[in-house]
Amino acid sequence: MTSLNLAIDTQTLTAKGLHLQGSIPATGLELPDESGVHPAGDTTVDLKIHATEQDLIATGSIVSPFELECVRCLRVFPQEVRLEDWSLKLPLKKGEIIDLTEPIREDILLALPSYPRCEDGNVEPGPCPAEGRFDPVEQTPLEDRPDQGDTGAWDILDELNR
Ligand SMILES: [Zn+2]
Repeated sequence: MTSLNLAIDTQTLTAKGLHLQGSIPATGLELPDESGVHPAGDTTVDLKIHATEQDLIATGSIVSPFELECVRCLRVFPQEVRLEDWSLKLPLKKGEIIDLTEPIREDILLALPSYPRCEDGNVEPGPCPAEGRFDPVEQTPLEDRPDQGDTGAWDILDELNR
């Protein structure tokens, strides 16, 4: 399979726009392959590209498979970054080539959890074997804190447990 070209030649964009569909290898997006984070296959994109007088507008979905290491049990688990309502607006200069590689890469990286936990995996979710191994941190009652959402509170706990 050939890698999808994400460089849009705005000169050839018609009023009908462009349907950009295909896959890009992890190396093509320069996705990180490091301790705890490994790309697990091609990133699939299905995008509609339109141009207005001033802007290039891309909308659609991006799916990128990863293998992450759980911060609690150190198990490697599959996780997909799924950007199903992705959109991007970039200022358009006529005749310019606009490369979507960098913005797509950045948004995939932003969607990766900073403290991956296997029970939050969206491919094979299941209980974390390390769950309950840590004593609750009783000196910091969470109910006294402003609501930070589920993950926020757990991130803090994970940090305290380090
Ligand atoms: Zn785990």
